[in-house]
Amino acid sequence: MTFTLAIVGRPNVGKSTLFNRLVGKRLALVDDQPGVTRDLREGAARLGDLRFTVIDTAGLEDATDESLQGRMRKLTERAVEMADVCLFLIDARAGVTPTDEGLAEILRKRSDHVILAANKAEGTRADAGVIEAYALGLGEPIRLSAEHGEGLNDLYAQLMPLA
Ligand code: GDP
Ligand code: MG
Repeated sequence: MTFTLAIVGRPNVGKSTLFNRLVGKRLALVDDQPGVTRDLREGAARLGDLRFTVIDTAGLEDATDESLQGRMRKLTERAVEMADVCLFLIDARAGVTPTDEGLAEILRKRSDHVILAANKAEGTRADAGVIEAYALGLGEPIRLSAEHGEGLNDLYAQLMPLA
């Protein structure tokens, strides 16, 4: 048995950095696959002995301000439907934004399938943002640093029961 994890969150929180870390060199093959859309990238992920499918919700970075919120909501809803579990990333250095709160509202409807993570959490500069994340109503946030590979053990512990 395997499962599908969708990484969701507003632009620039580190979704693709985490996707690349989980998928690694296999990304090159993934990009060549037909059916890989600009908005949803799928890859074969590894985390310790776990093997699963990971979806990166991308393609929002070039959206205009007016269309961004609506597209992000739709994409997040689609990712929630496709995935067994969603990893909702916020940027711990930026703190919780109104956009994060909007996405959290969608995700709370499926909160039993949501893992909350405060990314960019390396160092003490992120502490305030991590505390803010509790207010999203999605449980205890994992402290992650996608760039530095920190907190992946906590992510592993949450995903292991799904494997
Ligand atoms: P996405 O838009 O959510 O896919 O975000 P990206 O993965 O493209 O990352 C946005 C920016 O945040 C990039 O400059 C990354 O290098 C940076 N970033 C990603 N993860 C981390 C992290 O753990 N710590 C810090 N300090 N920066 C990060
Ligand atoms: Mg991205």
